[in-house]
Order: sequence, then C-alpha cells, then structure tokens
Amino acid sequence: MARPRKARPQDVDEICTGLPHTRLATSWGDVPTWLVPEEGKGRGFVLYRRPHKTAVDPATGEMYDDLLVIRRAGWQAAVPWAPSWPYELLISPDRHVPDLPAAGPDLRAGLGAMLVDALTRVGRFLGPDAPYMLWFHQRPADGDDWPAAHLHAHLAPAMRAPGVRRHLAAAEFGAGVFFDPVDPRQAAAHLRSASA
Ligand SMILES: [Zn+2]
Repeated sequence: MARPRKARPQDVDEICTGLPHTRLATSWGDVPTWLVPEEGKGRGFVLYRRPHKTAVDPATGEMYDDLLVIRRAGWQAAVPWAPSWPYELLISPDRHVPDLPAAGPDLRAGLGAMLVDALTRVGRFLGPDAPYMLWFHQRPADGDDWPAAHLHAHLAPAMRAPGVRRHLAAAEFGAGVFFDPVDPRQAAAHLRSASA
C-alpha cells in the first residue's frame, strides 16, 4: 500500500465540496469562502489566506494608512483593525517571507531596528515599565512549503492606557471574544506620535 502523502490546503476544499449544503463563494472582494446555510442566515469560512498586508480594509483590500504606525527597512508595524490588545502591533515584512531563517541577515537586522523603534514608542506612550508580550508566527518547521504561512510578530502591551493595566474580563474568557476599549485608529495615532 502506498504511503499516504501529507495533507495540502486543497484537500480541505475537496472535503468541503463533498459535504452537503456547502457551497463555494467569495467575500472581501475575491477571497474564496465556503458558505454553510443555517436557518436563513448563512455562515462563511475562509480556510486559508493568500499573502496580504496586515492592516487592510476587508471590503476593498486597501491599506488602512491610519492604522499604520511604522514603516522602515522592509518592515511595517500596524495596529490590527480588530486587535485583542488595544495597543497591539502586528509587525510584518513588506514582502512574503515564510520564516526567520528565510528572511536572511539584512531583513533580520531590519527587524531588530523595527523592534527597538516599536518598543521605544510603547515605552514613551504607555510608560517605561509597561509590560508587554511578544510572539512570532511563521512557517511550521516540517520541511513543507506552507505557501500561506507568513512570518510576522505580535507585540502586545498589557496596558489599555498609560498607567492602566488591560485586564481580561470574565466575558472575554467565557465567550472567547475580546473587547477593545480603544479605537484602533486612535491607538495607532498615539503610537505614531510617540516617536523618538
Ligand atoms: Zn499571528
């Protein structure tokens, strides 16, 4: 018996095609979306994404310039349009890069400068001791191609205003939905004006 190959994103489409009541449509312009009708109001699922900028208008695909905070040396940092943490910054390269090893020395050096810039702004606006979380998402290291995996970092200060901690509320834990008490455009403006 032949050894089964690893799953590909297209396999998920084939499985969806075989399910009853599902149909393929588009949303956000031309993003392939699986629709599942449910008592009159359907639900849509986007199963994988193409390379994209981090702060775009979902209706038009245009960059939200008012969410952009920093652009430098092949990288950009923007407040997501629906962040989980009010002053969260999504830091991503201008072009598709799957992971840190593939970024190469120049782009990695640019990332270092970007992190210094971003953390300086966070410290200036939220306070020099503001706690933050920093994590990277990138291609799984299993040797496969993963064309939809884009290197990016999340910088998430645990504050919702200077001197005010951001506490996760019971409803956020209970419902799995984050509330954002700060307008993301206002958060981006604060971080833009906190440059060195
Ligand atoms: Zn991510």
